[in-house]
Amino acid sequence: MLCPNCSCTESRVIDSRSFDEGSSIKRRRECSNCGTRFTTFERREEEPIMVLKRDGHVEPFDRSKLLKSLLSATAKRNVSLHMLEAFVDTVENDIRNSYRGPIKSSSLGDQVLIRLRDLDKVAYIRFASVYKDFKDLDELNEELKKLVEGSQDESEEITE
Ligand SMILES: [Zn+2]
Repeated sequence: MLCPNCSCTESRVIDSRSFDEGSSIKRRRECSNCGTRFTTFERREEEPIMVLKRDGHVEPFDRSKLLKSLLSATAKRNVSLHMLEAFVDTVENDIRNSYRGPIKSSSLGDQVLIRLRDLDKVAYIRFASVYKDFKDLDELNEELKKLVEGSQDESEEITE
């Protein structure tokens, strides 16, 4: 751990706290050379989230792939890359918190959709049309109808 002041590599730990249910440790250190105090975070290496694909293959959860689909779903929408990265973080944390082994790709998609709906409704429809593999236009229209009804509920809540 390099001291931010003098770049000395020797420091002693004066306090450590674990958080995130013990998966992370925050350490308060003091440089042995100049006495500067600084904080370090250490995160336990986590096992990857495995995703069970429709064809039966299991592969590690691919953040960048999800980010890429989200980028195309939010094209020309007012959603920044930063927002999308935070979005992927949230989804990943949600999955991790209830992770008990490979998660079905469909349930991963559902979790993304639930959150995307709150982020951007157009992106939600675009993503859903790809992810849910709509059989036909009726199905897509049904989804659109649900969405419109949902937004009407919201506007009613505001006027009340
Ligand atoms: Zn120092």
